[in-house]
Amino acid sequence: MTRLADILLRQIAVQGPLSVADYMNACLLHPEHGYYTTRTPFGAAGDFITAPDISQVFGELIGLCLAQAWLDRGAPAPFILAELGPGRGTLMADALRATRAVPGFHAAMQLHLVEASPALRAQQAQALTGFAPQWHDNVTDLPDLPLFLVANEFFDALPIRQFLRSGDAWRERVVGARDGALVFGLTDPIAPPALADRLADTSEGDMVETCAPAAALAEHIGGRIAARCGAALIVDYGSEISLGDTFQAVRAHEKVPPLSLPGQCDLTAHVAFGPMARNLACAVAPLTEQGAFLDRLGSGPRHGALARGRDEAVIESLVRAHHRLTHPSEMGQLFKVLALYSDDGPAPGGTGA
Ligand code: SAH
Repeated sequence: MTRLADILLRQIAVQGPLSVADYMNACLLHPEHGYYTTRTPFGAAGDFITAPDISQVFGELIGLCLAQAWLDRGAPAPFILAELGPGRGTLMADALRATRAVPGFHAAMQLHLVEASPALRAQQAQALTGFAPQWHDNVTDLPDLPLFLVANEFFDALPIRQFLRSGDAWRERVVGARDGALVFGLTDPIAPPALADRLADTSEGDMVETCAPAAALAEHIGGRIAARCGAALIVDYGSEISLGDTFQAVRAHEKVPPLSLPGQCDLTAHVAFGPMARNLACAVAPLTEQGAFLDRLGSGPRHGALARGRDEAVIESLVRAHHRLTHPSEMGQLFKVLALYSDDGPAPGGTGA
């Protein structure tokens, strides 16, 4: 039993069951016992590995893609280069190294990071010394300037709610208590307006997930991009629409039951990109698979260039990295890129059908 489990059980005893979103929020961001507030989960020794840990090429290509989008819009100065949930700062460090040679880009740039974890902010400061990053708790705190933004594996950490189809209504999955342990339960049938259009494409017993914070964030970013120009690359695992239970907990690279060890596992859900892309003020490129995106931007040749003249072990690890990032059986197909952009320039490179 973790300290946070104790706190949640007491809260449930007083207030009744929690939504999955409330549970996720507490587990990830509780100020004392939250997963992201208390630990730095990345890398082989941590709980999970993300694309920037696999290869420097990932951040390089994203940096160059955003720099090209900036050039395509007349190189506005000053502008904001922003990242949501930068982890250890690896992606951004790779992006900044790759864009050094883009004339005027660094001189016009203000670097802004949205990060909840104090421990990770410290690691990001180390990785990005010399670039004077400014940190924020929320995207809404960013200054009002042209915006070029990346978020990798950020949206999957936003709290979801889960609903089980029951007749022509839905029962929400909740977290309650039984015999001193956290257990899943279901509410009585309800009819959330957000799910009105899902009766047509689901049947009895299907589970559907909603993520109101993701839609609100996309709307906010889209509004800024439409008003001031810019582009955003939102990279994550997921699909166009939500169908099925994708709520998962990972600890030390293994899946564990999501209600075990609250605060000590990473909790995520697949991102449903369709609802995020609806009703935006800016343009949206067709959802692109990560493999296609990186292949089009030159992942193969760039890994090849890094391999030139290196020994066999290094070459093998570079081949393996390219494969992991782009192959359909690895991250290539499950991960998608949602690109938002202002219509004063083309869609960001590599995106589109
Ligand atoms: N982008 C990095 C890290 C992904 S993990 C990579 O690709 O490796 C998720 C990141 O988002 C972490 O940095 C975490 O601390 C941060 N984060 C999660 N939820 C957040 C929230 N609600 N507000 C701000 N940052 C958050």
